[in-house]
Amino acid sequence: MKLVLLGAPGAGKGTQAEKISAKYSLKHISTGDIFRANIKGGTPIGKLAKSYIDAGKLVPDDVTCEIVKSAVQGADDYMLDGFPRNVYQAEKLDGFAQVDICLNLEVDKALLMDRICGRRMCVCGASYHVSRLNGSEVCAKCGKPLYRREDDNPETVEKRLETYESQTAPLIDYYGAQGKLKTIICGDKSPEEVFAAVCEVLDSL
Ligand code: AMP
Repeated sequence: MKLVLLGAPGAGKGTQAEKISAKYSLKHISTGDIFRANIKGGTPIGKLAKSYIDAGKLVPDDVTCEIVKSAVQGADDYMLDGFPRNVYQAEKLDGFAQVDICLNLEVDKALLMDRICGRRMCVCGASYHVSRLNGSEVCAKCGKPLYRREDDNPETVEKRLETYESQTAPLIDYYGAQGKLKTIICGDKSPEEVFAAVCEVLDSL
């Protein structure tokens, strides 16, 4: 299965991706994670990506598409989290992979800003909202210190949401027209409730 996970920043893609890849044995390919690892490692790709990420813009398409092309090489079952991000990338993807399904996580826009700005991450992949941490600054799963993503600040988030609306949201129609779109209305459901809805869709395929 080749799955595309679509959703605005803060929709919960990362959280659902962890659960989906564990249950359905899909390789989890997150372009955001790949860029962050490159930034941490100080690679040329990381240096290039940082300026775009800090500005809430998309990293150039050709760099991003090449990264994904090599990440999927040799894998039959995978989930793309954060890719494609625009129609150009989706068309490129169609040139080297046969997407089976696009899961679209739909969340009320009014919730997104608060969700992202209150988000705290752990290196193990877990993420939390400050309002549920009761002052704790460590991960409940592994005990490591939590941190805030550099691009999770109000100005950058504003830009990221605009980028999503103008460039990424058109993919809803793109995959809809291909008959591959499944939308999960998340509202303010818990991650577990959203995952149950995701499983219902995936189990019915
Ligand atoms: P994410 O972790 O998916 O929220 O991605 C963080 C940032 O990485 C985004 O705001 C973009 O700047 C960049 N990025 C991630 N995926 C892509 C992509 N498919 N195309 C271009 N830029 C991306």
